[in-house]
Amino acid sequence: MKESRINAWAIDWKKILKIKHFLHRLQNKVLWIFNHKLPEFLTEYLSLLQFLWLVHIGSKPLTVSQKSAMIIAPHQDDEVLGCGGLIGLKREQNIPVQIVFITDGAASHSWHSDFKSGEIVPIRRQEALTSLSILGVDSSHIHFLDKPDSKLQYLDLNTRQQIIEELAQLLLSFQPGEVYVPHRQDRTKDHEATYELVKTAIRLAGIKVEQIQYPIWILYKSLLFRDLKLHELAGAYCLSIHSIQSKKTKAIKVYRSQYEAIDVGLSPVLKPAFLRRFSLPYEVFFKTDSVMPND
Ligand SMILES: [Zn+2]
Repeated sequence: MKESRINAWAIDWKKILKIKHFLHRLQNKVLWIFNHKLPEFLTEYLSLLQFLWLVHIGSKPLTVSQKSAMIIAPHQDDEVLGCGGLIGLKREQNIPVQIVFITDGAASHSWHSDFKSGEIVPIRRQEALTSLSILGVDSSHIHFLDKPDSKLQYLDLNTRQQIIEELAQLLLSFQPGEVYVPHRQDRTKDHEATYELVKTAIRLAGIKVEQIQYPIWILYKSLLFRDLKLHELAGAYCLSIHSIQSKKTKAIKVYRSQYEAIDVGLSPVLKPAFLRRFSLPYEVFFKTDSVMPND
């Protein structure tokens, strides 16, 4: 009788040890998910949620105007991600569209030994030309300013002034009705610097033009309700691009250097989670300010 009671105790201890081991493993798993997967999951789904909220609730409908447009992109891919549908729709109606790339795009792979001397520049340039030809933009309407990538916020005064003058010259010669720039709080230094450079260039050119912002990173790296003022949120517009979505997808797919890994085991520059919303048949723009000559 006494011996069987001892055996029962021994079995209980084994069970307790097993449960303890199981709980320890469970705790490690939960911690791993919390540290590694949760931020990725939240970023991806918050970004999609913010975009869908803008599309279905927080914006007014936008129709493509007959005004000529100049799309200003810091890097080769921003124009098609942010405005690919708009560009295609305008070109289908033969509305003039010019594209200006500010930087040479050299920084996207500069950490890799095969690309450290700007070898990616001609690849990105060709991708831009091919991608935009799908959307109906002729190469003679595409301008590459070839400024240093990832350095637009740290320019010396002379270089900054030179870029502003080049932009003002293009604005004066083309006289666009609309200018599209990255969002002023796009959470990427080159993008935010581009907004400021263009705003100054419009003042220098002295032309009256509507300045419209396209969001690229702000929906992915930021919380709109926390970071934008109500009057800015109220300036959101949504363009349906259903009729041209397949063309836009084709144009994005040309940018293989950005969404494909450059080497085995490496991550691509643009992750699938970030790219997901750009495959949806909507584009969002912010019309919060128009720049007048003496603004
Ligand atoms: Zn960019």
